[in-house]
Amino acid sequence: MSIFEQLSSYDHEQILFCRNDDVGLRAIIAVHNTTLGPALGGCRLYDYATEADAVRDVLRLSRGMTYKAAVAGLDLGGGKSVIIGDPSMKSEAMFRAFGRHVQSLSGRYITAEDMNTSVEDMDNIRRETKWVTGSAAAHGGSGDPSPVTAWGCYHGIRACLEVIYGSPEVAGRTIAIQGVGNVGYYLAKYLHEGGASLLYADISQKRLARVVEEFGGTVLEGDEFYRANCDVLAPCAIGGIINTRTIPMIKAPIIAGGANNQLDDETRDGEALAERGITYAPDYVINAGGLINVCAELKNQSREKAMGDAAAIFNTVKRIINKAKSEGTTTIRAANKVAEERIEAVGRLKRLYV
Ligand code: NAD
Repeated sequence: MSIFEQLSSYDHEQILFCRNDDVGLRAIIAVHNTTLGPALGGCRLYDYATEADAVRDVLRLSRGMTYKAAVAGLDLGGGKSVIIGDPSMKSEAMFRAFGRHVQSLSGRYITAEDMNTSVEDMDNIRRETKWVTGSAAAHGGSGDPSPVTAWGCYHGIRACLEVIYGSPEVAGRTIAIQGVGNVGYYLAKYLHEGGASLLYADISQKRLARVVEEFGGTVLEGDEFYRANCDVLAPCAIGGIINTRTIPMIKAPIIAGGANNQLDDETRDGEALAERGITYAPDYVINAGGLINVCAELKNQSREKAMGDAAAIFNTVKRIINKAKSEGTTTIRAANKVAEERIEAVGRLKRLYV
């Protein structure tokens, strides 16, 4: 498929190829949709095997950002960027050169941290453009988004509990968390404070020891996470873990956690979960707290405001589960539809006034 055919199949507005040989920069910025606002999405640094892989990734990820912002009710569009290269080769000059390309889009695209890019890299980009978020709190940025992401997940879990059990209370419920890193740690903290019993899975013994010491609970080994007798599975580690191998093992009635791209295949695995009567909180809906935090940063709003907005994920998750039920579809399809309907409606509104 040619690049223009790919742009049209994902319905992208614009793609910018950026190069600066002197500093080793080869980057692609994808602006998917700006109907709701400027296209926001992180800058990923990755040593892609081929340029075609980099194009595919940036197109897929930027489209995902459009949907995430739309369902979260934010005035943001979707974008993403990738820098092609070995993460060990990064430099101040490389990120400053990238910052100049971001600046050339005059705010149509706003960048942020992503895989292999750090707060320090964002600070270097900031030297060339103001269209960057997620720099250090000391530099006026919003700092670590994980507590806000986890707070949104906590409320998404409460929404699922209310739909399934008639009460959002986490007290007395058992919740298994896979991945107790940045997001998983804070989620464990909030659930522990709410009175839930916790089970944990992680490949890091150090991280497991920390949560057990602070919040109590039991460690699960290998596939025990999927087989756990609990109320909620909360994936907070890596993507693709809900798949044809793991779905038959799942006993929990709810899957609701912060990891991105939890379903290996959105359609196939979304349908398999629905057939088994398992309620799935779509990942990009329940983990939107990080984006909500960045949005608050752009508006110079406080962390408190971001936490309040993330708590509203409760209503969004509930609405999507109920929509899926009433339309006889999967929660992921229902979420996609909510996003598309909002973009369509706001797009019409803009046409009216332009
Ligand atoms: P992190 O790296 O801090 O934590 C991930 C944890 O998962 C680590 O403790 C790691 O040891 C563990 N892990 C890795 N592979 C595992 C495996 N196979 N089985 C069990 N545990 C495993 O990352 P994070 O920032 O907490 O992000 C976690 C997930 O949430 C990612 O998918 C990320 O994309 C998503 N997410 C994070 C944010 C945020 O604000 N940080 C926002 C939105 C989405």
